[in-house]
Amino acid sequence: MGTYKEKSALLIVDMINDFVEEEGALYVPGAKEIASRIAELSGEAREKGVPVIYVNDSHDPDDAEFEKWAPHAITGTAGADIAQELEPQHGDYVVTKNRFSAFYETELDEILKKLGIEHLVITGTVTNICIFATSLDALIRGYDVTVVGGGVAALNEEDHQFALRQIEQVFGGEVI
Ligand code: ZN
Repeated sequence: MGTYKEKSALLIVDMINDFVEEEGALYVPGAKEIASRIAELSGEAREKGVPVIYVNDSHDPDDAEFEKWAPHAITGTAGADIAQELEPQHGDYVVTKNRFSAFYETELDEILKKLGIEHLVITGTVTNICIFATSLDALIRGYDVTVVGGGVAALNEEDHQFALRQIEQVFGGEVI
């Protein structure tokens, strides 16, 4: 079964050094493993002409999010750069966000509308945080959503499974 439909785009959320590298500020165990799955999916997407869109955390040094979370993804630092194994290719889109949803105060929706996208294949970190918020926001906005179970990672298995279950059973997304 193909992952992509006629009007799909691949979203790669927060596969940046601070989440992917062991010495990163908010290291997500499992992020390295999903990177190889995401590399496969992005390779397939580019071959098929499916847009590949990176959405990355990018925070000011005094961002309000740091009241709850350790400082991470500070704009201009290496921690905010995309992990080297997922280096964007010519024609890919790179969007920055500073909240959990990839849609909040970003140009993502505009890019998707311009490209005529109706279906999002969502990958990256963290399953129950930015993946969850982004999937929910996409579903509310009327996009079809497929979350790739092997292409997303959380800080623990329980949160991972719970978020996928919510996306699928409560909000009507697809989990593969
Ligand atoms: Zn953040």
